[in-house]
Amino acid sequence: MAELEPVLLAGTTVKRASLHNADQIAKLDLHLGDFVKVEKGGEIIPKIVGVELDQRSGDAVPVAFPETCPECGTSLVRYEGEAQHYCPNEHACPPQITGRIEHFVGRKMMAIDGLGGETVAELVQAGLIGNVADLYDLTKDQLLALGKGWGEKSASQVIDGIAASKSIPFEQVLFALGIRHVGETVAKKIARAVFSIDRLQEMTAIDLVGIDEVGEVIAQSILDFFAVEGNRNMVRRLRMAGLRFEVDVSQQQPMGDKLKGLSFVVSGVFVGYDRDGIKEAIERNGGKVSGSISKKTSFVLAGADMGPAKRAKADELGVKVIGEEEFKRMIGE
Ligand SMILES: [Zn+2]
Repeated sequence: MAELEPVLLAGTTVKRASLHNADQIAKLDLHLGDFVKVEKGGEIIPKIVGVELDQRSGDAVPVAFPETCPECGTSLVRYEGEAQHYCPNEHACPPQITGRIEHFVGRKMMAIDGLGGETVAELVQAGLIGNVADLYDLTKDQLLALGKGWGEKSASQVIDGIAASKSIPFEQVLFALGIRHVGETVAKKIARAVFSIDRLQEMTAIDLVGIDEVGEVIAQSILDFFAVEGNRNMVRRLRMAGLRFEVDVSQQQPMGDKLKGLSFVVSGVFVGYDRDGIKEAIERNGGKVSGSISKKTSFVLAGADMGPAKRAKADELGVKVIGEEEFKRMIGE
């Protein structure tokens, strides 16, 4: 982040601008005390686009990218092909410990009520938790003993929230683990392809890249994650705590090929499926889902409130429009 002398620009005062990464700093050849050109184009975010070299003093020092982590002092690393530097001290660097737990309890992950960022930091500082598995050993008495701000109600909320998270589906648990590059969508694809963490842990790089959306980088990241004993221990403890590390049996239906070679465009609202569910039903039966209607579209699967533009397009291209009932007959449900 570049700290700037405040300047009024297009209605707001700009005091800082992101420099993004070491490459960007090098590209601009920034020196401390430089006069810089700041731009606020179509975006609201100010950007440094150049340096006024005429105004640079002779003894100006180049901006040096930090070599060590400002929090724990570990030498930073930069992975091949990536612009960012990382602190590799994953398991002992304080903000990383807190950050990983914060990620884990987040709304789209384990969705633990009552555990926001500040509370997580407080529990880490108090020595009650050092990794996500420790959450499941927390007791209400430990929280109440923290004193200030903790009462019967807030303590119960956290403990109940932690207990409730044990029923979060595997795909979200997988996302919550914080494996690098395994975001929400990828976690979902993996969970539905491998069904359990046991199978995932046994997979080789070749097995992994066979999963939809998983490339070499993600495959390597998964292998790296399970290569760390601390991570395997964490998974073991989470499993003992009762978290779900398998996909529901109902979702484990074998892949069918009733829709093989057919492509679908889905539009509108359905009775028996939600938006993701109907797409999964198509894919589970060997069909493909596409976002827009073309000559290659086999069927437009129309629910209630299908847009008139889509219907007109289907008519124009002569693509058959089917409803939910007909679709169910096709897949034999
Ligand atoms: Zn660090």
